[in-house]
Amino acid sequence: MDVLLRDYIDLGISEIVVIESANREEVTGFQDQHLAQTVIARKGAGFVKLKAREDRWFGPRPGRTFAVISQQEITEYDYKVAANGKEIMDTAEARQQLRQDIANYERRLELEDRLDGMAPKCPKCGKTMYANPGKFGGFWACPGYPDCDGRGSLSPEARRLYRELHG
Ligand SMILES: [Zn+2]
Repeated sequence: MDVLLRDYIDLGISEIVVIESANREEVTGFQDQHLAQTVIARKGAGFVKLKAREDRWFGPRPGRTFAVISQQEITEYDYKVAANGKEIMDTAEARQQLRQDIANYERRLELEDRLDGMAPKCPKCGKTMYANPGKFGGFWACPGYPDCDGRGSLSPEARRLYRELHG
């Protein structure tokens, strides 16, 4: 999913054109990435120029933040001059693809919630189990493994959900 495009669209802007983009990757640690970007776009009846920042970090707790650093109104003339010859980010195809990606993502979340809701308690220690990949399409495993080796079979409905999620 193009999360950057999603963030820009969430700001209510369209005909987004990137006019400046600087990527900085940290050479040590987990190669965290910092993106500073300036875009111009249509907003409501006018046009804006905004500077945004995206930070991504990896490692054991990966994450991402996006923030608008500054935003100023510009004239239609300024927009046209600066956008001239540059690509528009939110083409109809890109917006369609994003909608599809969001729908798929939400579908996965819903399936995961339903599957989690079916998780039984471990017959040995009572902890709530989770669906774990197995040779024959998943089984309930105990989060206490390896101290606890409790396991269980997925019901037909849980198996169907699991297959839809994991193929
Ligand atoms: Zn257990």
